[in-house]
Amino acid sequence: MVKRWNKRILFSLTGYVIAGVIISHLVLTPLLYQTILNTYKHNTDEQFISHIREVTGLLGDVLTTNHQQQDYEGIVDVLNSAVLGGKILYIDVITSDGNIISPSDSMSITPESFTEDQMVNQHGDDIYYLAIPLHFTDTSGNPGRLRVGFDESAVTEEYLSLKQTTIYILITYFAAVILLMSAITHYIHKPLRILQNRSKEIAGGDTDIPLQLASKISDIQFLANDLETMRNALVSLAERMHDKATHDDLTGLPNRYLYTDHLEMAIALASRENRSFAVLLLDLNRFKEINDTLGHGIGDDVLKITAGRMQSGMRDSDTLARIGGDEFCIILNGVGQILAETIANKIIRLIEPIMDIKGHALKISASVGISIFPDDGDNSEILMQRADVAMYNAKHNNLHVASYHNDMDSDNIEKLMMANDLKSNISLGYFEGLFQPKIDLKTGHACGCELLLRWQHPQLGMILPDKFIPLAERENVIGELTRWVIGHYLIQLVPIIKKHHDFHLSINISPVDLIDSKLLSAINEIIEKSGFPADKLYVEVTENAIMKNPARSASVLNEFNDSGIQIAIDDFGTGYSSLAYLQKFPITELKIDKSFITYLTENSNNFPIVNATITMAHDLGITVVAEGVESKEVLDLLAQIGCDQAQGYYFSKPIDIQQLSSWLDQHAENSLLQE
Ligand code: C2E
Ligand code: CA
Ligand code: CA
Repeated sequence: MVKRWNKRILFSLTGYVIAGVIISHLVLTPLLYQTILNTYKHNTDEQFISHIREVTGLLGDVLTTNHQQQDYEGIVDVLNSAVLGGKILYIDVITSDGNIISPSDSMSITPESFTEDQMVNQHGDDIYYLAIPLHFTDTSGNPGRLRVGFDESAVTEEYLSLKQTTIYILITYFAAVILLMSAITHYIHKPLRILQNRSKEIAGGDTDIPLQLASKISDIQFLANDLETMRNALVSLAERMHDKATHDDLTGLPNRYLYTDHLEMAIALASRENRSFAVLLLDLNRFKEINDTLGHGIGDDVLKITAGRMQSGMRDSDTLARIGGDEFCIILNGVGQILAETIANKIIRLIEPIMDIKGHALKISASVGISIFPDDGDNSEILMQRADVAMYNAKHNNLHVASYHNDMDSDNIEKLMMANDLKSNISLGYFEGLFQPKIDLKTGHACGCELLLRWQHPQLGMILPDKFIPLAERENVIGELTRWVIGHYLIQLVPIIKKHHDFHLSINISPVDLIDSKLLSAINEIIEKSGFPADKLYVEVTENAIMKNPARSASVLNEFNDSGIQIAIDDFGTGYSSLAYLQKFPITELKIDKSFITYLTENSNNFPIVNATITMAHDLGITVVAEGVESKEVLDLLAQIGCDQAQGYYFSKPIDIQQLSSWLDQHAENSLLQE
């Protein structure tokens, strides 16, 4: 902890400034200090030396005078008084003939050898030795000398004490500078530290608190202003991003994500206050058609206008969200079923007036499903699911509004899933055609096969056509499904058709296909592309389908026939038409419904009908196929009464194309009737 703190100080602005000051002072102050000391020492030494020279000179003059007056006692007196002063520690006179005159008083020191000093404190003996010539000339004319040793300790001591004082001053100065620098840097550093901490907090996502920092240092103030500008920009960016993530771009309404949030909140609030609320799921009718036929631009406009109209009919406390393509959700707080239905009807009335979009007058209708908290569910998932079930129910009963009730359930959810997935599953390849062989009862060989469709739903598993064909008809995708079947399988059947003599493919078409004016040309195109022989294609259509609109059916079937395609009447016997009537249509084949065939030998009521049908059909030149043959007895009976072909589990269940191919190869040689 302490280490970290030290590190922080060391590498902070304060640290750097203090280090800089210390380093520069460490270099500069000794230099300055040395220069001052040197100058001082030089001056005091000079002063001392010139003073003692002056004293020595004066002594020399006095001594010379005494010598001239031959006052030798006077000379010794002078020497004595010189020593008495205390400043002179040693003195003597050497005459030219080598005699030494010393003071009579003893001197404190006696130098071993007299060496003159050139500077103060030269030999570390605290004595400055000096000699001057005297005019104590003898006969040879040589001068004598005055030798003096001055006490220089005072000068050295003064110097040392000055040195000490200076060091104290310097240390004090040093401390003062460092203190001052710390104070100044602290003054700068404190706001910088605040800025640094705020930047860190902002980077960590804490952008709520505005930065309030006023500094007299302009650079810091600018920095603070910039940081505050950045914080504001971040806040608005975050708001925009949040808005984008929670709202639908097109309508500006809350999206599914935010809606789920609101729904959870509504549940929490209503549970606490013991209140109910309603969930409305609204789905536009035939919106896909508008999108597909008029384009997405117009589709988008429809959604925008619808959203606006819906919003105009709602209170501020309610939530309106767009949760999918043409699906809207509404939460009505404090509302029960009856009021919810009233509001739902009002919203639909708001949507319905004609919209004029780019010259198109469009009338939009919608279906609304309602679920009520807590009666229909106490969690968001169930409430949504049940509103969905109710909406599905409304749509398929051609109602505007339906409230959820118990008997709508599981079956409807399945239907709902199927309705939702049908279209996409066609293109995703979840459908598969199986083939059931048809056997010629005269030759005992396969003469064709019927294509029967299966839906492998990713969640619901295998779904049989009795379930999804009516759905596809209602949802208006049967045309697409029929085209997919033909487009997908005709070409695959070509090798089998060519390999097996007199072999045809029967496909089932729905009554809805019979009014599809473009279906035949689509089939013809595929026939041409795939090389599938048109006369080997049979379309099976139920008598009920024909009877729905006999005139139109006659013209469509004639067109099929003109293209070379064969027509078969499927499920014959289940409708109310008569063969005499059906002969108006270009029919090649008649398939007697399996309800007459499967138990033919057991149910004696069926036999006369089957028998008569075969006879009459033959009279009209129509081939008769019996479907649902499950036993040898029935097969034998059918053969006996002249039925042309048979199809059923007795021979084979519907099988996939590879299985069909090997099944055909396996039974190519032997008659299937002998087995
Ligand atoms: P369908 O045209 O009458 O087809 C015969 C139905 O009887 C098939 O049921 C077949 O599997 C079943 N079946 C065959 N042999 C026997 C048997 O010996 N005993 C019994 N009990 N049943 C047998 P699947 O495949 O469930 O088809 C049901 C119906 O769905 C078909 O009746 C047909 O009307 C329709 N369908 C099938 N595929 C398509 C298609 O691609 N398009 C259209 N529009 N309808 C199709
Ligand atoms: Ca059929
Ligand atoms: Ca049938």
